[in-house]
Amino acid sequence: QHSSTTYQHQIIEYDPDIHTYSFERQIVQDINRAIDSNELFMVYQPKVWPGTGDVTGVEALLRWNHPVQGMISPGVFIPVLEKSGKIFEVTDWVIENVCRQVSLWLEEGVAFKQVSINIPGPYVTSSRLLNVLNDNLMKYQLDSRFIELEITETSVIHDIDNAITAVGRFRDMGLSVALDDFGTGLSSLSYLRKIPITTIKIDKSFVDGVPLSEKDSALLRAIITLCTSLKLKVVIEGVETQEQIDFITSMVETPYIQGYYFSPPLPEGEFTDWLNEREVVERPGSILSL
Ligand code: C2E
Ligand code: MG
Ligand code: MG
Ligand code: MG
Repeated sequence: QHSSTTYQHQIIEYDPDIHTYSFERQIVQDINRAIDSNELFMVYQPKVWPGTGDVTGVEALLRWNHPVQGMISPGVFIPVLEKSGKIFEVTDWVIENVCRQVSLWLEEGVAFKQVSINIPGPYVTSSRLLNVLNDNLMKYQLDSRFIELEITETSVIHDIDNAITAVGRFRDMGLSVALDDFGTGLSSLSYLRKIPITTIKIDKSFVDGVPLSEKDSALLRAIITLCTSLKLKVVIEGVETQEQIDFITSMVETPYIQGYYFSPPLPEGEFTDWLNEREVVERPGSILSL
């Protein structure tokens, strides 16, 4: 029969793009329900100053526990939501959720200095973002210095003049701004002189080969030196091993570390447990002041 021929034909000529398309459509369709039904939640990963072990900040990362697909990685669903425009609503949800959590932590006296929120490229330069940030800082009575925005190098390069203006406005509000995934955007370095960021996050790909590869090690060292000499706070992402820590801390200007070496991203309860245990065991009496 015809239909079976068609069916067979489709199997043989299986086109991964068709699968991707329907998968993407499903994601876009399901996200509204996910926002309303607790399928989305945040996890938190510390940024540590290896010299003293101080936890200097925390990055908030989004998780989606989908009832059919299981845990979907943000690396998969964020780009889909960016294409469809749904990312605006999801980011609003993320901002509100993180601000509420920060205000709870402050009430509980939990020790941390700053929480970072990832802002997707298309949202960075919108006036909607400024309004949502202002609304939530007011609603949860938060000082803006508790919040850092992470924006990717790629999104900045796409719209450099507007990005510079936007980052200036965030700084005027008292927010910190980090340039995320630094080194992956194939950009010229000239914009670093013009954009008023506070922090640079060096992408994990620059750490993976360290210290075994001499070239990778030399490159990482050069990038750290470049960024610290620009008086920027430097965070190295994706640090996993003692050997990487040893290499990084052997430098004169030690950057901050974010990676599985210290902790994977954890749900808020587990994160505060991690923080409290650490304060008691490793750093008695050193609850950080805000
Ligand atoms: P990112 O902002 O660069 O976040 C760092 C990623 O590296 C996180 O992946 C984190 O779990 C992972 N990571 C940290 N340390 C290690 C390590 O030692 N080893 C390994 N293998 N990985 C490590 P995650 O949570 O899967 O997020 C992936 C990307 O998805 C993020 O990259 C960010 O671009 C995006 N993303 C995550 N949450 C959000 C969000 O709330 N909003 C937006 N717009 N994007 C988000
Ligand atoms: Mg980030
Ligand atoms: Mg990154
Ligand atoms: Mg990344």
